[in-house]
Amino acid sequence: MENGNGGSLFADALKQFDRAADLMNLDDGMRQVLKSHKREITVNFPVKMDDGSIRVFTGYRFQHNIARGPAKGGIRYHQNVNADEIKTLSFLMTWKCAIAGIPYGGAKGGVKVNPNELSEGELERLSRRFFSEIAPFIGTETDIPAPDVNTNSKIMAWYMDTYSMNVGRSELGIVTGKPVELGGSLGRNEATGRGVAIVADEACKYFLTGGGVKGRTVAIQGFGNVGSYTALILGTEYGAKVVAISDITGAYYNPEGINVKEAFDYVTTHKDLKGFNGGKIISNDELLALNVEILIPAALERSITDKNADKVRAKLVIEAANNPVTPEADEILRKKGISIVPDFLTNSGGVVVSYFEWVQGLYSYFWDLEDVRKALTKVMKNSFADIIKTMEQYKTDMRTGAYILAISKVANATKLRGIYP
Ligand code: NAD
Repeated sequence: MENGNGGSLFADALKQFDRAADLMNLDDGMRQVLKSHKREITVNFPVKMDDGSIRVFTGYRFQHNIARGPAKGGIRYHQNVNADEIKTLSFLMTWKCAIAGIPYGGAKGGVKVNPNELSEGELERLSRRFFSEIAPFIGTETDIPAPDVNTNSKIMAWYMDTYSMNVGRSELGIVTGKPVELGGSLGRNEATGRGVAIVADEACKYFLTGGGVKGRTVAIQGFGNVGSYTALILGTEYGAKVVAISDITGAYYNPEGINVKEAFDYVTTHKDLKGFNGGKIISNDELLALNVEILIPAALERSITDKNADKVRAKLVIEAANNPVTPEADEILRKKGISIVPDFLTNSGGVVVSYFEWVQGLYSYFWDLEDVRKALTKVMKNSFADIIKTMEQYKTDMRTGAYILAISKVANATKLRGIYP
């Protein structure tokens, strides 16, 4: 996919990787290993549509690195899905799991489809056929998918059932993000947003004067799974003042603070924010340029680019979406003295609770919500502190510090295992 600057998303990610690899003097052989994907799978598969016609869809599953454990990563359904995007996201998953200290490597999958154009039956047939196509490379101990953009617990249940039917037993550990009734974990739905809130609080304490996120002004772009839970938890549990929220239908601004519970309930009922009257309507561009302390992009890739980075006035950008800031924008923000908390730390709460779900499934012993939240908070705070330590040691920015920490963990695992044969 073009990144608007003539290159691909993966080329962007490699630039950030190389910045860290240069600082840590990573040797060429290890660089080659860590920049390469272990496996890149593309499948073209037919689906019978309701009107009797047949449509062929394209799907992907990329496995980047499995030195630290089985591959792990979500599957998204979106009309813009392409190999470059899935390649980049699987690369990011390796670093995300390493930072969090969970025993997984990186993977990602996707199907190029607009799921809103499909009936329920078509969506189910597409999901079951796609999972069958990639099943030879998926397994409880080899590669464990999860939900991502436009996929959810219902689709995970179809995946789990499809796989289980074929192996002749219920395989709970084959995917995470399942419904709680089918071995899903309590706290999985809110996990990414909760992780973002924990990281935002830690980041305020470290980068700004005056303590945590309590009482600070926040603008959030995107009000899907990640954005809505981030807003809800920041506003109701951490006492932050969320003054602006947005989704694909528009942005809503209230300098007195949006009632985030009302907005969350509105979206639960109406699916999106269209018609929400808890704030003045502004554009998404205006939201990004608001005079707030914290800006949280939680929509899709590349929302902050060299075209609009100069307008950002927040002191702290917390990357809740994957790749929301291009390398060019990253440089502009850093020059303006804005601190950026990188995506593969900020949004790792989802994969951390996915890991808890996998462990619970393997043992068939399930935790209560408070235990899940407590364990998640511990992982997020430890990851934050570990990155800050590395960042200070190398006198660099937080993203590069996070890469250095993650790369050293994966490189060490690779060295300890040795190169086979
Ligand atoms: P989602 O589909 O539930 O929500 C996306 C939101 O962004 C929606 O509210 C949508 O309306 C909004 N949006 C889309 N285009 C927009 C635009 N141009 N301007 C403003 N808003 C826009 O997706 P999600 O699960 O919340 O994921 C969001 C991001 O977080 C993605 O980058 C995803 O890869 C990443 N992420 C998600 C999880 C997770 O557990 N869901 C975990 C890690 C990372």
